[in-house]
Amino acid sequence: MKKLELERKKTDENGVSAVKELVCIMCPRGCRLKVDESKDYAVTGNACPRGAEYGRKEVTNPTRVVTSTVKVEGAVHARCPVKTDRDIPRPLVRKAVALLDGVVLKAPVRRGDKVVSDILGTGASFIATRNMEASE
Ligand code: SF4
Repeated sequence: MKKLELERKKTDENGVSAVKELVCIMCPRGCRLKVDESKDYAVTGNACPRGAEYGRKEVTNPTRVVTSTVKVEGAVHARCPVKTDRDIPRPLVRKAVALLDGVVLKAPVRRGDKVVSDILGTGASFIATRNMEASE
């Protein structure tokens, strides 16, 4: 009976759970978090404040730093690793990566060079994350 009451508390009037369960990715410990939407996104299960911040943000406004690679010509390696210089909204990640499909860099490339600016109007840029020297 008590268990049933607990389960009920976890759902809203439509029977949809108000408690989201997720694993914190802010460090290797991987705490199992519970975020209760009905209690102003209160987070439990976190071993440190970073987990509370991550849990709340992940449920209300999930974002990601995106990593990928782009084609590079005239270098020893065929592709250059890139990443966004800040988080972008998670729903935009696929479209953001698709922007890189037609990009071809020319060596030399310097770490920090902008590859794509203002990704989908977010203000974030893809930047190169390693130097790519021109091949002889
Ligand atoms: S809550 Fe803190 S200790 Fe736990 S995984 Fe997240 S960052 Fe690591």
